[in-house]
Amino acid sequence: MDLDFTRHQLAFRDEARAWLADNIPTDPLPPMDTPEGFESHREWEGLLYEDRWSVVAWPESHGGRDVGLVEWLLFEEEYYRSGAPGRVNTNGISLLGPTLFTFGTEAQQDRFLPRMASGEEIWAQGWSEPDSGSDLASISTRGIREGEWFVLDGQKTWCSRGAWADWLFCIVRTDPESERHRGLSYLLVPADADGLERRPVERLDGEPAFADLFFDGCRVHESNLLGGEGEGWNVAMATTSSERGLNLRAPGRFLAAADRLADLYRELLEDGSADRDLLDEVVRSWTGAQAYRWQTYRTAAQLSGGTELGAASSMMKIFWSELDVELHATALRLLGGRGELMAAAPDAVDVGAWMSGYLFSLSGPIYAGTNEIQRNIVAERVLGLPRK
Ligand SMILES: Cc1cc2nc3c(=O)[nH]c(=O)nc-3n(C[C@H](O)[C@H](O)[C@H](O)COP(=O)(O)OP(=O)(O)OC[C@H]3O[C@@H](n4cnc5c(N)ncnc54)[C@H](O)[C@@H]3O)c2cc1C
Repeated sequence: MDLDFTRHQLAFRDEARAWLADNIPTDPLPPMDTPEGFESHREWEGLLYEDRWSVVAWPESHGGRDVGLVEWLLFEEEYYRSGAPGRVNTNGISLLGPTLFTFGTEAQQDRFLPRMASGEEIWAQGWSEPDSGSDLASISTRGIREGEWFVLDGQKTWCSRGAWADWLFCIVRTDPESERHRGLSYLLVPADADGLERRPVERLDGEPAFADLFFDGCRVHESNLLGGEGEGWNVAMATTSSERGLNLRAPGRFLAAADRLADLYRELLEDGSADRDLLDEVVRSWTGAQAYRWQTYRTAAQLSGGTELGAASSMMKIFWSELDVELHATALRLLGGRGELMAAAPDAVDVGAWMSGYLFSLSGPIYAGTNEIQRNIVAERVLGLPRK
């Protein structure tokens, strides 16, 4: 078995590394969960797209480079290693994009994919409701058909970047007599539609990163139905598979954080302030990131060979989200009192990124389906344990 990358893969990695080194903004962009930061991250997306680095695994016809999964994973490693800005359109390119390739009509793909890849249109996910989070099949927002239109009434919540996004992908109940996962449809909703009000909601760190969405007679044309009417659950499951599996959180993100953790430990050793008792924790986080990397390359090989990821994606989601918490908690323990500074604090220098990263890592076991739910899925569908 040959575990080395091919010459072509290494050349691709080097090209990505060189482009990133030449193009990363010299000053960090403002946080993307602010109106100003949202727009500066949109501009960055445009620059990536111009040189075809925005969606490397997509076909060339839609702005990509048509590369395989391994090249995409290498690109992600380079991206995070370089410290490039966060991707403001992740919900679009990583979640809705693959779903559009599978379920979209040609007209929908041509209409939405290029503008998604360039950042011209930024997407948000409108699924959760005040009484429906883990139990998504219980959603009650309605989309009742009137001729060529669906008329939406109801409320969505926790919509990341929903206050500024240009489009929303939503699941609504189009058959009012239906129950659970039947009678749902997947709609693409323009954020400036009449009858849709968006109210920003602050996150733990005070940034207005979420929105509540209120639909009151909001009309959405049938051309924006993704998949068949009443087929929304199947389409949504394809999106969740991307969300929990490879697409949302590639190992590059955690490898870069684990390297920063190791650097932090070395720096503290040099100035004599490292708590050597924490070495084991540093090593555990670092090897955890490496383990996730190799597991992901293994999965990529399986997927390329035609195997479906299926319920096993839940194991990946549990692993990366818990690794992220452990990694950031270790950094804060190493930093002691200084670890309490937020990124915006005057004396934080680069140390503040750890507290901001830690606060965000706490949400990893919640979003993309909570880890309790993922453990249920693993128990029932991977291990074949009986349902309670
Ligand atoms: C940072 C962040 C970003 C998000 N972005 C979006 C977004 O863009 N769009 C969107 O639609 N949603 C988004 N969400 C919402 C997210 O999908 C929900 O928070 C999540 O699905 C859980 O739903 P809930 O909050 O209603 O909790 P609940 O479903 O009410 O769960 C409460 C607790 O009970 C546990 N629980 C529930 N059912 C079971 C069970 N059967 N077995 C064991 N334990 C159970 C859960 O694990 C959890 O601990 C985001 C959340 C976060 C934290």
